[in-house]
Amino acid sequence: TKAFLDGLKQQAGQLKTMAFQKKAGSVYSTYVSQFDKALLAVDFALDNDNRVAGFSVHNYNPSTAAKPARNRSKLSFPLKGSWTITWGGDTKEQNYHVESEAQKNAFDILITDQAGKTYRNSGKSNEDFYAFGKEISAPCDGEIVLAVNGVKDNIPGELNSFDVGGNTVILKTANNEYLVFCHLKHASMLVKEGQKITKGQLLGLVGNSGHSSEAHLHFHIQNQEQMNNATGIKCYFDKIVVDGKVKQDYSPVQNEKVSL
Ligand SMILES: [Zn+2]
Repeated sequence: TKAFLDGLKQQAGQLKTMAFQKKAGSVYSTYVSQFDKALLAVDFALDNDNRVAGFSVHNYNPSTAAKPARNRSKLSFPLKGSWTITWGGDTKEQNYHVESEAQKNAFDILITDQAGKTYRNSGKSNEDFYAFGKEISAPCDGEIVLAVNGVKDNIPGELNSFDVGGNTVILKTANNEYLVFCHLKHASMLVKEGQKITKGQLLGLVGNSGHSSEAHLHFHIQNQEQMNNATGIKCYFDKIVVDGKVKQDYSPVQNEKVSL
């Protein structure tokens, strides 16, 4: 880290001012930072004791991308079988993601049993979780713009604050929507950056990597690739079964049972 900071100082010069820009959920905070020679964005991630667990520095590009309120592409639900929307909707009560500009319309999707539990046995291993290892398929045609595959799965209950998204795939649609899938299973990625994808094609498997306490799929749409600068786009599925009834052009909310 010392070497990194020295390198940063050499390239960007002395830090002059830092202004708080935004907080991505409880995960990290972004500061727009004026150095002698550059304007950069610095993200800090904090651990549970509010100590700095990680930080990253990247170019600060005020966004010029359009911010559509909803998706134009017709999307199918990316998972087979019956799933529960554990977090999803427009209010803070329904969806803790609403605090994050990029992830405000995100879903956390799990499998629950009759008793409402998300695992069998003790729940001490990832394999105990019903969602772990389930297939994720492309909701529509598009191009893969990001495919991160090398992050290990967490021990259930332990969160990785350093690498928030974990294994992540971003699918860009023809309408410039960026479909973001996070926390995939370690080394389960079936696609690579630059690859053209058709609807229904397998992307990878549900896992427990990144800032995730148990196996689940985090899915959201944003208006550009870089999450730090992105704005969330509300996700409507073209056709989805919700609590046993077929719904057209619907955006599910917390506690709804959904399937393809
Ligand atoms: Zn999430």
